[in-house]
Amino acid sequence: MSVSSPLNQKIEFVKGVGSSRAEVLFQELGVRTVEDFINIFPFRYDDRSEFVLIKDVRHGDSVQLKGTLISLEKVRGRNRSRLTGMFKDASGLIELTWFQGVKWISETLQVNCEYVLYGKVNIYRGKRSIPHPEMELATKAENQSAYLPVYASTETLGRKNLGIRTRRNILMNIFQILGPQHFPEILPGELLRILKLCNRYEAYTWIHFPENEHERGHASNRLKFEELFFLQLRILQVKKSREQKLRGLVFEKVGNYFNRFYREKLNFELTGAQKRVIKEIRNDLGSQIQMNRLLQGDVGSGKTVVALMSMLIAIDNGYQACILAPTEILAQQHFQSISDSVRGLGIQVGFLSGSVKGRTRKDLLRFLRDGHIHFLVGTHAILEDPVKFKNLGLAVTDEQHRFGVAQRARLWVKNVDIPPHILVMTATPIPRTLAMTTYGDLDVSIIDELPPGRKPVKTIHKVEADRMRIIKFMKEEIAQGRQIYIVYPLIEESAILDLENLQQGYEELRNYFPLQEYQIAVVHGRMKSGDKEMEMQRFVKGTAQIMVATTVIEVGVNVPNASIMIIENAERFGLSQLHQLRGRVGRGADQSFCILMTKTLLTHYAKERIKTMCKTDNGFEIAEVDMKLRGPGDIEGTQQSGVVDLKIASIVTDSKIMQTARHFALEILDKDPSLSLTEHKATKDHLDQIKGKYKNWGRIS
Ligand code: ADP
Ligand code: MG
Repeated sequence: MSVSSPLNQKIEFVKGVGSSRAEVLFQELGVRTVEDFINIFPFRYDDRSEFVLIKDVRHGDSVQLKGTLISLEKVRGRNRSRLTGMFKDASGLIELTWFQGVKWISETLQVNCEYVLYGKVNIYRGKRSIPHPEMELATKAENQSAYLPVYASTETLGRKNLGIRTRRNILMNIFQILGPQHFPEILPGELLRILKLCNRYEAYTWIHFPENEHERGHASNRLKFEELFFLQLRILQVKKSREQKLRGLVFEKVGNYFNRFYREKLNFELTGAQKRVIKEIRNDLGSQIQMNRLLQGDVGSGKTVVALMSMLIAIDNGYQACILAPTEILAQQHFQSISDSVRGLGIQVGFLSGSVKGRTRKDLLRFLRDGHIHFLVGTHAILEDPVKFKNLGLAVTDEQHRFGVAQRARLWVKNVDIPPHILVMTATPIPRTLAMTTYGDLDVSIIDELPPGRKPVKTIHKVEADRMRIIKFMKEEIAQGRQIYIVYPLIEESAILDLENLQQGYEELRNYFPLQEYQIAVVHGRMKSGDKEMEMQRFVKGTAQIMVATTVIEVGVNVPNASIMIIENAERFGLSQLHQLRGRVGRGADQSFCILMTKTLLTHYAKERIKTMCKTDNGFEIAEVDMKLRGPGDIEGTQQSGVVDLKIASIVTDSKIMQTARHFALEILDKDPSLSLTEHKATKDHLDQIKGKYKNWGRIS
């Protein structure tokens, strides 16, 4: 686009704007130019032919009315005057008020004329009233399309007379000077043909002024595709350039450690999904390019053995490997199970966390440096600078969502020369579309199959009135040798309240499960790690039948004999958290239960969450619902990325378009990696232009 294009013009100079409105548009919407302005899209369309009757108008409604202005009167206030009007339709009367622009408005509005009015209903001095309504003569309004676009607004915009109708008028003035020549095509012609997309000029005019559903649909489709296509081009280029930059260690062979483990130690058949993923990882490790792979798999899907077998490949090729867990408890558990799994194979496994101190720590660090230790298992203590490897070949991080991006990057520098391969494992499934944006530059492997023989956990919703029945049920299960988790929510702001909650819960429980007969372990976040560990062990070993805990057990604990999970105040947990918690049971052969205790009255969202939990145990489905309920920005682990910044497409509802966009972006980059073909010139220019806005993209992960 040339510098002289009207699109580059300052918004101030558009008819109907002027410098003071331009200032407000910049402050409120970040709009400087005509191009900025037309790139704010309507978020919905109201049907212009539908009017609310005044008698049905309620406080807080945004309404469109049609009626007659029957009076207009200046009222003197103490400091300044205001303007009030009465507006009437066949069903009743409502008051209109203006506090600003009184003179101008009283001169432009005509009493006894029919108007179409748009505004938000308030209560003013005990009466229904519409402050600063937007008014248009009914005769004029009738000439316009039936679709009334609605743009996101702010209070200031409304007050400064930049409401929806004014903005529409500004847009109309803009489109009077814009023509097709100002919207050169930026998508490859081939794509337009294959996908039957409308051209850019049509897209922009139709999105703001659709005559009918056909135009609106075409416009939105084209603009969404365009947005997602360029997003994917960006992501894929970042990924490509990193692959070129980062030479990886080459693990050519699978050797004795791997083979002996497979033959002598692995006491179950790998699932098809596990085999597939191990193959994907093996390919990466042999490819000369540093692996950056995200492994997603629901709780209990068997990610650990995949990690372990990858680590075995590393040591088969003469390198060390490490695995990081987010908590001490989980790290301990990994250490135990990995040590057990490789016993007798001559593999040295070390453990490192903040609690490993003194002589032990010193020895460990020395063994690590001289290569005596093959595997290091631990917490983020591994990231600290004094922890040096002889030659780290593979770093695995478990439960990624607890692990900051920056922390992960610190693993890269553990080797002086070539960075280790990285495998990131997460049990919080990320919806496909989100994965394609947020982690679009990582390769993704998915374990979508549970080991055979697992009985799905039965999930039930209960309220306080059911308490006695639940106690009875618990006693029956304990009598059969089962164990039970009871979890209380963690309130970030108030650790003290948590503790009270949990303490109270524990004491009530004691009324029914007396000390002489039952052992109850208690674990919460404010305990010293040694005490925590002791309580955990009482439960792991089966001495305690019940464990009462705050969410500290959320991550990764494995007690196959525990078959009941009771979640107190379940309405206070997020969906993914509930799903994680439920994953703690259903690991053994017995039928397991998850009981969601809530209060009786629930908000809409809480109800949806509970309903979803009772209905499905598919982690991906749950993640999708979670994203729909909370919006993508809130999904764990994605907030810090800040990459999901879309103007028109939605990561939640446009996953089809996203997939199409990624497909074609991949295809085009395969054919023409640097977009240097003539047919891609316009695409490349546009891409370069938007890249300027996302300078720190290379650092996403
Ligand atoms: P997660 O993916 O949640 O980390 P784990 O790796 O802890 O799951 O595996 C859960 C349990 O399933 C472990 O006890 C593990 O030994 C077992 N397991 C893993 N893969 C299989 C399989 N293919 N067949 C049977 N059991 C398996
Ligand atoms: Mg795990």
